[in-house]
Amino acid sequence: MIPIVKPFIAPAEVMLPEIEQTLYSGYIAEGEKVYEFEKIFGDYIQNPNVLSLNSGTAALHIALMLEGIGPGDEVISTALTAEPTNVAIKLTGAKVVWADVDIQTGLIDPESIRQKITERTKAIMVVHYAGMVCNMDEINAISAETGIPVIEDNAHAMGSRYNGKPVGSNSAYTCFSLQAIKHLTTVDGGFIALKSPERLSDGRKLRWFGLDKKVPRLENDIKFPGYKYHMNNVNATIGLVQMRYIDHIVGKHKDNGLYFDRELAGVSGVTLLPYYQHTEPSYWLYTMKVENRSDFVRMMTENGIAASELHLRNDRHSVFAESKCELPALDQFYSTFVHIPCGWWVTEEDREKIVTLIKKGW
Ligand SMILES: *Cc1c(COP(=O)(O)O)cnc(C)c1O
Repeated sequence: MIPIVKPFIAPAEVMLPEIEQTLYSGYIAEGEKVYEFEKIFGDYIQNPNVLSLNSGTAALHIALMLEGIGPGDEVISTALTAEPTNVAIKLTGAKVVWADVDIQTGLIDPESIRQKITERTKAIMVVHYAGMVCNMDEINAISAETGIPVIEDNAHAMGSRYNGKPVGSNSAYTCFSLQAIKHLTTVDGGFIALKSPERLSDGRKLRWFGLDKKVPRLENDIKFPGYKYHMNNVNATIGLVQMRYIDHIVGKHKDNGLYFDRELAGVSGVTLLPYYQHTEPSYWLYTMKVENRSDFVRMMTENGIAASELHLRNDRHSVFAESKCELPALDQFYSTFVHIPCGWWVTEEDREKIVTLIKKGW
């Protein structure tokens, strides 16, 4: 079966000696390897204001905490995402307010965001779902007009671009996940990228009990409690090795995605998704709309190719019951969209087979 997601791990002969060296170096906690990884990652996204963390969820949580978000506040978000996006909001005590999606793309709809803004709105959470970049021209305009900060959940979209630059320095906060199945994995890990360096020091404290590692331990004073969200040298070592392959990984995803864009255009029963102006997806998954989805999924599965929606729309969870509202565009999108494999493991032969099967019909 060709899977929809699969962890990329650098070859053993490259990876293992470096892990071994770090493991027995006498220093495996947050240290030089972590800071080196932060430097390299910052270079990759062209933003030096980054903090490494032990998960993408930690990145989302820290972004919300840096904005001082808590009970009584509202955060506008989308239900079409992996659960951590919205669970992180819930953890702060704030209310999740669903905006609807753009019926053509499944991504958060700027018009709907505008309608959902109240005086309690403290942040707008946008998700570059499946690697597609949201309508950032419009979302930036809303943020500029209202002063409400935007948090970009970029867990699916490492390597995607906006205005010709890597996603990661456009909004106040951009959150990355290095979890097992994302473009780049350190087994688990994450990054938060800040637009301005002012809150880096507070972010650093939030990731480590409220202590600042850059200040000697005996001179530290905890002013607010922090979490244990930092990355360690072992995960950073893995990340440093993995980073040598990032262009290869993202390149393969993009090459396959562009191939499907070309080859599936106009195929009967398939509707391709348009990409917004000034955006370039990184094709974590290949997402499209199909007629008779359950038949489509059955046909693909019978032929050894995984196809599915992958995520449960988050408004179905009891924990978000208070946020319940009508989302007509999501209802429509959710009943027709499907992901097919598009990642680095999909060979030219595989992708030709996929296109041939889809062209035959289901
Ligand atoms: C994976 C993921 C996260 C959370 O990342 P972790 O590193 O697993 O904590 C957040 N948002 C989305 C959309 C994700 O897919």
